[in-house]
Amino acid sequence: MGVTHVIATTQFEHSDARRAFPCWDEPSFKATYQVNLTVPSELAAYSNSPELANTDLGNGQRTVSYVPTMKMSTYLVAFVIGPFEQTEALDVNGTPLRIVYPTGKGHLTDLALEAGAFALKFFSEYFDISYPGDKLDMVAIPDFAFGAMENLGCITYRETALLVDPAGASLAEMQRVAEVVAHEIAHMWFGDLVTMEWWEGIWLNEAFATFMQILCTNAFRPQWKMWVSFGVDRDAALQIDGLHSTRPIEYEVISPDDTRGMFDILTYEKGGSVLRMLEQYLGEETFRDGIRHYLVTHSYANTVTTDLWDALEETSGQPVRAMMNTWILQGGHPLVTLAAGTLRQQPFAYAKSSGESAIGSSWLVPVLTRPLKGGPTSRHLLSDEALSVTDELPVVLNAGGSGVFRSRYGAAELEALASHVGELEELERATLLADSWALLLAGQIRWDAFVASARGLGDQDEPNPWGTVAGAVDYAKRALAPEQQTKLAALVRQLFGPQFERLGWDASRSESDLTPQLRAIVLGALGTVGGDESIREEAARRFDANELDGDLARTILRIVATENRPGDYDTFLKRYQSAATPQEEQRYLWGLADFADETLAFNAAERCYNEFRNQDGAIVLGLLSRNATTGPAVWRFFTSRWQETIEKFPANTLSRLALGIPTYIADPVFAEQVADFHESHPLAGEQRTVEQAIERMRVGLAFCSALRSQF
Ligand SMILES: [Zn+2]
Repeated sequence: MGVTHVIATTQFEHSDARRAFPCWDEPSFKATYQVNLTVPSELAAYSNSPELANTDLGNGQRTVSYVPTMKMSTYLVAFVIGPFEQTEALDVNGTPLRIVYPTGKGHLTDLALEAGAFALKFFSEYFDISYPGDKLDMVAIPDFAFGAMENLGCITYRETALLVDPAGASLAEMQRVAEVVAHEIAHMWFGDLVTMEWWEGIWLNEAFATFMQILCTNAFRPQWKMWVSFGVDRDAALQIDGLHSTRPIEYEVISPDDTRGMFDILTYEKGGSVLRMLEQYLGEETFRDGIRHYLVTHSYANTVTTDLWDALEETSGQPVRAMMNTWILQGGHPLVTLAAGTLRQQPFAYAKSSGESAIGSSWLVPVLTRPLKGGPTSRHLLSDEALSVTDELPVVLNAGGSGVFRSRYGAAELEALASHVGELEELERATLLADSWALLLAGQIRWDAFVASARGLGDQDEPNPWGTVAGAVDYAKRALAPEQQTKLAALVRQLFGPQFERLGWDASRSESDLTPQLRAIVLGALGTVGGDESIREEAARRFDANELDGDLARTILRIVATENRPGDYDTFLKRYQSAATPQEEQRYLWGLADFADETLAFNAAERCYNEFRNQDGAIVLGLLSRNATTGPAVWRFFTSRWQETIEKFPANTLSRLALGIPTYIADPVFAEQVADFHESHPLAGEQRTVEQAIERMRVGLAFCSALRSQF
């Protein structure tokens, strides 16, 4: 502690290689690179390929020369220099795989090494092409504004995405490591070996890697049920995509800077979901064969998006290009209704448009349906024409749960299904709840109908539908008047109480890997919105005893922070500063945003500018501004020093400053002030995210007045 170390690292995407060496710095100009680095002798150095020679210059410096790379784009060249250590190389079918980490963190590398070896083998088989590089180093960078970067053979990561201690981590924290590792390794083929011609194709690069990260991690740990948890990510994307300020997944890029707005949830999570929907519609093997065909045809070269559709069309015989154009070139997604045996689509929107809208008008929708009681799944391609469905009732719309649309049942279909919600597959059930919440926010169903679906959930270990309910009651609390909040608290105790009775505080030996996550959701809802005193007391006891491992840690911190006990804030800070793992550090850092005290909130906000890692500053300010009590004050704090704020933090993290905006739903006067400020202070490259946050706030304001009258 207390010793400053300096490292040097590159991050060239999209067009910064030209700042390091002269080059045609565009993705279509592929070349080979032979890197030589002259560095202080005591420091470690890494680049894309293995070392060729190492020459001591006798003056305290050495020159490292690396084997020439394969033919690739400039943005994938990398070098990293600093006081790093590395694991022994693991031989994965002939490829040496290592984890590189800041000195002393070697005990946190096991999961990434295991996940990395798995992913290398998985993708060689899935793509039927061996790994295109000569070696693979995965490097943890202590202050890194991105999540990770797919430099060929030398992938760089933020620490929380690579280094983890499984013994003390939550499921989500471990999943993040396995997923990011799989995502970046998928890029070695899809992105590095075959690359987009120009930056508008970056969405496909990222959407595909997102799809593959789930496919691979689901095979790595089947018990994590990754496609079910990916349903949550898709829902988060659809929450943005139902706004008029959404955007088409692909749009024209003139200057490379235009791509900045592409690195968002619509590229990664919506794009990845659309590919999953396509895969499920075409069939998993047909889809895989199309991908193999595409990669082998375009290896070491560049492509445009339609090359992929053409390859899939060739292997499947389906109108893939026409179908995908409706999903990629227009924003939004449909609401698919199944009523009186007939399927129809219409655009889904949270509110009527008062001007321009990026939401499209119709899609070629792959819809799967099935009779609940068993029997074959029917495949429909729904256009503007209504289609009839002949499956026996009760029938499941969006069978399997992979469709990228909202679903609504007609009266007869709903009545037949209502008492069988427990028999749905897990992702189908999670989707039903998420769609129900979306329809409530859009003013298309009432609060009581949403609560009725929540009551139908019953006992199950898959956490995501309960997560939707917990998120909903948390949001509803912000909308309600104080006396209504008391009624809401009673409802929360009624809904979640039986689950707590069943699960208790401590894990049983026989429970699934997902149960602890459900327990955390249940305790969180009861301890915060539910105001359950005994749960709040036990949370405080565990905090005092520092029993804070795994899935319950974040929940306990959240409950404790809202108690505002004297001294706890300082304990959070101390434990943040002396954290043993990147995950523990992050928990305490984020936890600082949950205290409901203005002095403490300002104290934490100030530290974003002069103490916390630069990669985290804008995120913590965003979280602080989302606090139900102190959020508006923090928003005023950082907007009053706006210029300093936007110069201080990495540009690609600034959109996080908008995190609080969608929650300002109970005070229309303040909401307008927020909208005015951001409309007159646009964030270059990130303003669309801010506009989406403002539109969500307006949807929330309407929800607030509707809910108050229904409660
Ligand atoms: Zn990526």
